[in-house]
Amino acid sequence: MPHTVSVDKEICISSGKCVADAPAVFRFDDDELAEAVDPTPTVDDGFLVAVARNCPSGAITVYGGQGEPIDLD
Ligand code: SF4
Repeated sequence: MPHTVSVDKEICISSGKCVADAPAVFRFDDDELAEAVDPTPTVDDGFLVAVARNCPSGAITVYGGQGEPIDLD
């Protein structure tokens, strides 16, 4: 099962980094808060983790193949 992602819109500060870095995976909603495209496209797992780590507010969670959140530290 591929990785999936989610965005906590309560934490997102609309920096746009994830949307710029991975436009196939993230988009802005009508309030310019990021959200994950559903279903998550198949992209390199390491790339997803790197994008999540680069979120300035830590709003992105990446889930592993079994649905478990991946530790980004
Ligand atoms: S990188 Fe983080 S703060 Fe910036 S738009 Fe994406 S989820 Fe929001």
